[in-house]
Amino acid sequence: MPEGKPAYVRCVQLTADNLCLLFGKPERPAVCGSLRASVEMCGASNEEAAERLTLIEVATRPAPVG
Ligand code: SF4
Repeated sequence: MPEGKPAYVRCVQLTADNLCLLFGKPERPAVCGSLRASVEMCGASNEEAAERLTLIEVATRPAPVG
């Protein structure tokens, strides 16, 4: 994704069973390798992760210009 991955867009490197095709490869973005998932961030299920990550996305969204 040379233009970056917008919020709410599924990464093209993510498989149907939610594994990263670039895991362990040098071309994996540094930000992905540095992210440390936690229970606070992801909860205990896909549903909880989606809910919590949406809240984080909204809370950290840049303010509109103008
Ligand atoms: S770890 Fe990064 S490159 Fe891999 S699937 Fe997730 S967002 Fe995509």
